[in-house]
Amino acid sequence: MPVRDLTIGDDLRTETSPDPAKPFVKPTKVGFVSLGCPKNLVDSEVMMGLLARAGAELTARAEDADVIVVNTCSFIESAQQESVNTILEMAGLKTGGRAKKLVVAGCLVERFRDQIRKDIPEVDAVVGTGELENILAATGVAPAPVRSDSPFVVLQSRAEGEAREAQGRFSRESWQGAVGDLPNYLYDDATPRILATPRHMAYIKIAEGCDHPCTFCIIPQLRGKFRSRRFESVVAEAERLAQTGVREITLIGQDTTCYGEEFGLKDGLALLLEKLAGIDDLRWIRFLYAYPNKITGKLLETIATHEKICSYMDVPLQHASATVLKRMKRGGGAEVFLRSIARMRRTIPELTLRTSFIVGFPGETEKEFEELCDFVREAKFDWMGAFAYSDQEGAAAFAQDKKLSPREIERRRKHLMGIQRQISKKKKKALVGREFDLLLEGESEETELLLEGRTAMHAPEIDGKVFVNDFPEDEIPQPEQFYRCQITEAHDYDLVARIV
Ligand code: SF4
Repeated sequence: MPVRDLTIGDDLRTETSPDPAKPFVKPTKVGFVSLGCPKNLVDSEVMMGLLARAGAELTARAEDADVIVVNTCSFIESAQQESVNTILEMAGLKTGGRAKKLVVAGCLVERFRDQIRKDIPEVDAVVGTGELENILAATGVAPAPVRSDSPFVVLQSRAEGEAREAQGRFSRESWQGAVGDLPNYLYDDATPRILATPRHMAYIKIAEGCDHPCTFCIIPQLRGKFRSRRFESVVAEAERLAQTGVREITLIGQDTTCYGEEFGLKDGLALLLEKLAGIDDLRWIRFLYAYPNKITGKLLETIATHEKICSYMDVPLQHASATVLKRMKRGGGAEVFLRSIARMRRTIPELTLRTSFIVGFPGETEKEFEELCDFVREAKFDWMGAFAYSDQEGAAAFAQDKKLSPREIERRRKHLMGIQRQISKKKKKALVGREFDLLLEGESEETELLLEGRTAMHAPEIDGKVFVNDFPEDEIPQPEQFYRCQITEAHDYDLVARIV
């Protein structure tokens, strides 16, 4: 079972206070399991920061913990199942081990709050995505703070969000036990955070929630209406991270391209990237999850102008058939997308383009699926993911008929990935002999005989890898450092390089 082992720096662990006036009290040891996407990981980092500040000791070993927190994902059915399995596994440590408390946090709580408590009696407390500060009371480390400088944001009016609310986009009425209030929490630069990523890189969440109407998605009901962090808060956090040794920053949010709209910022993401590019110690800056029709000329030009901003874009297109996209309530289609991709590649030479698709959306005909396949052949993405459609109660598509069988969906998914594999193979082969900057990450996870790292073409955790099998005799390559490398071999998705 893929459980993320959180790596917590020793320097951040809480020391007990040797105050002689007070009896010695052992700090509560808290262990975290963080599932799901980088957005959820940032929530875990914030909760760990709050706990450490309140005096808890964090441990990366669940079996050593007095309290175990499982931060769950509820994006699709397989993610929900993984979350439930992890909760049950950790419940076993509570009944048969040292742990005295089990806390469940995250998206699964927003979706199945009552059911978790009813069906898994080992769970002592739940913490939704909008109440991260309650982790203190839930773990018993401290009462939840009543703060005058509360980071609960006052939602600024945003026409798109209001309109969606009026249309019932955020309704959770059919979800038993879901609280009526939508999450509106948003951390800021003053919120403590303990990074669980390697020291040289960090995610920064610049916005939360989503106002788009995509019919397959329940994230808006789980995470609330779209809201952006203050511009200065993001910049202050990036500056602080850079001072502590972070060299690569990845901006995330459900939709980063809407950043700042509620403050009346035009091209907010471009302005933010521009400002971050001015931070001396940062080397690579990138953003994920761009919404296709929100990509502006100014954004593309900003990426093209600043060396520190990686020539990398992640634009989840979800499909390419105009009729499927219409049923998904996203709009667009192969022709529009191809024009848009051509513009991106014209403006940003050497652009690395990632996308993802949902295969087997209700009613997807063979013809519509073929349109998607043709589009993928023509667009030639550098990286591509294909997800099997997953039926979600609460999503508008749940009520649509003509559902495809799981077997057929899987057949189509594999077929599409087969097309991309050939494209990727050719693209990677064309890189052999070329030189790039490489961020060395350490020993390869696959074999200790190789080192591995990433270039600007590889976003952390999602793209292929660069294995390093050769370096100059007088050089002992150090993790978390940048090196010039030459690509010597290419596989379907991964590369092999030597440090020059
Ligand atoms: S833009 Fe993304 S998060 Fe928002 S509704 Fe669509 S798929 Fe869900």
